[in-house]
Amino acid sequence: MSNKLAIIVPAYNEEKVLNHSVGVLEDILLKLQRQNKIDDQSYLLIIDDGSTDQTWAIVQKLSKNSLVNVKGIRFSRNFGHQNAIWAGLMQAKEDADLTITIDADLQDDSKMIPKMVDQYLAGNQIVYGVRNNRDSDSFFKRESANMFYKLMNLLGVKIIPNHADFRLMTVKAVNLLSQYHERQLFIRGLIPQLGLSTSKVDYKRQKRIAGESKYTIQKMLDLAWNGITLFSTSLLKVPTILGGEFLLLGTVLLLEHAVWKHSISMNLISLWIIGGAILLSLGIIAEYVGKTFNEIKHRPRYLVAERTDNNE
Ligand code: UDP
Ligand code: MG
Repeated sequence: MSNKLAIIVPAYNEEKVLNHSVGVLEDILLKLQRQNKIDDQSYLLIIDDGSTDQTWAIVQKLSKNSLVNVKGIRFSRNFGHQNAIWAGLMQAKEDADLTITIDADLQDDSKMIPKMVDQYLAGNQIVYGVRNNRDSDSFFKRESANMFYKLMNLLGVKIIPNHADFRLMTVKAVNLLSQYHERQLFIRGLIPQLGLSTSKVDYKRQKRIAGESKYTIQKMLDLAWNGITLFSTSLLKVPTILGGEFLLLGTVLLLEHAVWKHSISMNLISLWIIGGAILLSLGIIAEYVGKTFNEIKHRPRYLVAERTDNNE
């Protein structure tokens, strides 16, 4: 096995950190190569997500004069972090054996990379980087993240708490991932669905060394909303539940009026009954919308983990 590693780095306007980060990652790759844990052809793959600063010029320079192989892909405009990671993974699966995705600002602790490789060498197909300490995040970011993971759990979505996109995946895992054809991506929600052998490394999230966060509040909310709506249709049950309750209440009021002769306005009773019936009807439509939504994602029906040699 050649163990060719591709470290995938999405970068959007990261001119202030890129040279430093690539230097750090280069040292890690060289050390792993010296220890014969990874192939000498292992490389860094930087995805420039439509930067408007000097990021691409830096990538081009690094690709010419670095100690390890540095490759770059430049998007025509900003397509977002998830698409940048996806592009990197799909490119790397063509020639690498294993991939690690890590943010350009190295807030995800790059010192964990050798540990991830060790866990890969021990037979794991996926190694999650899990932030066990978010002191370096703002109060808002920390609390909103906590709320998000609780909500996802409540909605029954399988997701690894405090894991973003710092992750090792073998090419086998990336090949399975590539069978998911949806356009709207929330990659960390798809990985637990692959069903391969996994492990995790804990790390303390670092402070950004320079530059500002490129994840605006809007981008963060979009990502969280995507996570909720792409992986759960539970919210579509809200009209059914409300409609059922309104209808029940209306019926009880009607009975009180008709049987027990309590004086209740018929206007009020019809409001509950009609409102309940409308909501319930919406709930029925929502059931079909949910089914259609799941259908058009074209997610694979099953994923093959192994085959015997003679049935290829
Ligand atoms: N990023 C990207 N496209 C975007 C926004 C961010 O490729 O539209 C990259 C960014 O360059 C970094 C990673 O995604 O490598 C995480 O972004 P950032 O560090 O700004 O987010 P935060 O750590 O503050 O959540
Ligand atoms: Mg960051």
